[in-house]
Amino acid sequence: MLGLGAMGTHMARSLHRGGDLAGVWNRTASKAQALAAELGITAFDTPAELARRCDIMVICVSADADVRAVVQELLPGIAAGSLVLDCSTVGAGTARELHALLAPRGTEFLDCPVSGGVEGARLGTLAIMVGGEAPAFERARPVLALLGKTITYFGPSGSGQAAKATNQIMCAGIIQVVAEAIAFAKAEGLPLPALIDTLGKGAGSSWYFVNRAPFMAKQEYPAGFRVRLHAKDLRICHDMAAAHSATLPAVESTLKLYDELIAQGHGDEDISAVFRLTSTLFP
Ligand code: NAP
Repeated sequence: MLGLGAMGTHMARSLHRGGDLAGVWNRTASKAQALAAELGITAFDTPAELARRCDIMVICVSADADVRAVVQELLPGIAAGSLVLDCSTVGAGTARELHALLAPRGTEFLDCPVSGGVEGARLGTLAIMVGGEAPAFERARPVLALLGKTITYFGPSGSGQAAKATNQIMCAGIIQVVAEAIAFAKAEGLPLPALIDTLGKGAGSSWYFVNRAPFMAKQEYPAGFRVRLHAKDLRICHDMAAAHSATLPAVESTLKLYDELIAQGHGDEDISAVFRLTSTLFP
């Protein structure tokens, strides 16, 4: 396992529980050493050393440049027949680029971005969206099954990232419209708990309405899906749409709200903090 952040640490634990973790590597070595000591596994000094000892490698780091950097550092140790599973959320173009880099060396690369948050990573119940060669997916399936419950193969390299981007576009539109609707209902003087309970069963409902509107009503934005992370994902969606010469209005308007929240110091709050801004629509 390479990358022991909020997600990767739990994923490493899941792999260990399944008896499938030889060792870990993390850029900040102290994190890898602490986890390795706790689990009784190896903390590798470099990605290349890990690659020499493992035929399947799981990566979960922040963004496109970070995955590229880790794959470059794996290269000196990678042998033909190895399999690299990247669970980071990055652009489909990056996945295709790394797939093409590794293919001539006889190494498979699958894009395997995940959904379900830190809680899903902890419980091993992530939804995993996979792109790459179908036989490599069959080989990866038992490892992915230790990390998630819903594992779907979407097609050639980049398809997993495209599926994840589709999800992030929906989240952008939904969180924004839920925040707008609650601001409106509040201005109308409606009893919010009763409203949320009733509309939560209606056609306009969604996971975000049921689970986040109650927090908007209380003006509390507990740890969940950080504004900063979703903004990173929406920039990926922006770039992928731009490759089709298209723009996505909901993505663009949500990004503007996120930029404002980050500038105000709310980048590490849950994305329901958008209500901070929509509530000012009603002076
Ligand atoms: P995080 O807690 O910020 O951890 C980031 C990890 O990436 C750390 O281990 C960090 O190492 C490593 N890293 C960053 N840049 C690196 C580089 N250039 N070279 C090597 N390692 C590098 O992030 P996270 O929440 O675990 O998210 C990881 C990925 O999963 C992201 O792509 C994110 O979008 C995706 N994801 C996150 C969630 C979520 O709810 N958090 C949900 C679904 C998907 P250091 O320890 O040295 O900083």
